[in-house]
Amino acid sequence: MLKFYNTLSKKVENFTSINPPHVGMYTCGPTTYDFVHIGNLRTFIFEDILQRVLEISGYEIKRVMNITDIDDKIIKGAKEKGIGISEFSAPFERAFMMDLAKLNIKYANIFPKATEYVDHMIKYIEELIRKKLSYVEKDGSVYFDISKFPEYGKLSGLDKRELKSGTRILSDEYSKDDAQDFALWKSVQADEVGYNSPWGRGRPGWHIECSVMSQQYLGDTFDIHAGAVDLIFPHHENEIAQSEGKTGKKFVNFFMEGEHLLVGGQKMAKSAGNFYKLKDLEERNFDPLAFRYLCLTAHYRERLNFTWASLQAAQNALNNLREEIRGWNEEIGLSEQPKGSTDQFWQRFLDVANNDLNIPQAVAVVWEMVRSNTPTTSKYQTLLKMDKVLGLGLDKYLGKPIEVPANVSRLVTERESIRKSGDFKKSDKLRHKIKKLGYDIEDTPEGPRVKRI
Ligand SMILES: [Zn+2]
Repeated sequence: MLKFYNTLSKKVENFTSINPPHVGMYTCGPTTYDFVHIGNLRTFIFEDILQRVLEISGYEIKRVMNITDIDDKIIKGAKEKGIGISEFSAPFERAFMMDLAKLNIKYANIFPKATEYVDHMIKYIEELIRKKLSYVEKDGSVYFDISKFPEYGKLSGLDKRELKSGTRILSDEYSKDDAQDFALWKSVQADEVGYNSPWGRGRPGWHIECSVMSQQYLGDTFDIHAGAVDLIFPHHENEIAQSEGKTGKKFVNFFMEGEHLLVGGQKMAKSAGNFYKLKDLEERNFDPLAFRYLCLTAHYRERLNFTWASLQAAQNALNNLREEIRGWNEEIGLSEQPKGSTDQFWQRFLDVANNDLNIPQAVAVVWEMVRSNTPTTSKYQTLLKMDKVLGLGLDKYLGKPIEVPANVSRLVTERESIRKSGDFKKSDKLRHKIKKLGYDIEDTPEGPRVKRI
């Protein structure tokens, strides 16, 4: 049974979709004012794992991820460079797509851009005004009146007394103390980036875009909305107010939010100099998939502390795993009878993965299976299935011969003939020599198997 922690109920609940086998899933995407940082990427990896676990259970996912290509920072950045906002955003969007590919993160089915849905947002806001959930200020800005939505705060668990109804927030960014009426539409001066609307020239707020674009593709009510934990309030809370206020129906059945990535025990900040992007990791010769592996070692609802040492440990573990699975046989060899099954490993892997994505435990099961003496022919297909969830790209290594340098290869052949002749002392000596060159030998019924140390 598939179970996920639902932020709405604050409990782990059994998951069933509204219309099986289909699952509608919306995940908040990047704001393209800069490259995404590794904290953002941790969230996207968590969402990717969520999709893969649903898929292995037979669900078909329709996934929507927005691209926020208009906000205060983008406008400021474009202005400073003297270019248009789409020209400013484009390279960051391209880099984001590349990062996803390098991390084996599946692309969403649809990546709607905020600037392409402004007309939809205007219509949506008109409906909220008609329902008296929103009001227009003298300057032409439109706000959502949180006092008109009694359930405001149900996701984030805000105490009603904290709510400052009647005070307003216009900025795209605000703190937990600012539970107040939020902007759906912000009026702008004639020379600023904006669009014409019934309330004058302006631009949409950040929250409205996610309500509009999710419901556009997934309907009034859909299965899963995911993001990072810092989006619970105000972003997801505001999305609920807008969406449920408009339709009178439940917006989303499951809200799932991934915890933060800390760097050196601290929150990432440009000012602290611990603000890393994927290319910073690559410049230090790390494989992007080592970062993915690192993310798999912590539960998504727990903080993960990134250090260069922890990334190195993840890289080593991934390298070891790749080496272990080289030379595995897919076909059953003559000397190898199918004895032992991997069913129990697969079942345990599924059980933990399905239990609110306990991926650290799933990785432990993978290692247990890899190191077990179950025949590789039996492990081969099971590992491929497991990697459908983990997304480590292990198929590139599975069963592939390792590239052994000619000098090592000669020594291996020499040792094998000596070993067969029964001179174990001499063959051990050669093994030692081979080890010094960075390789080890495992004697199997099919002959020697060479591994990189
Ligand atoms: Zn969003």
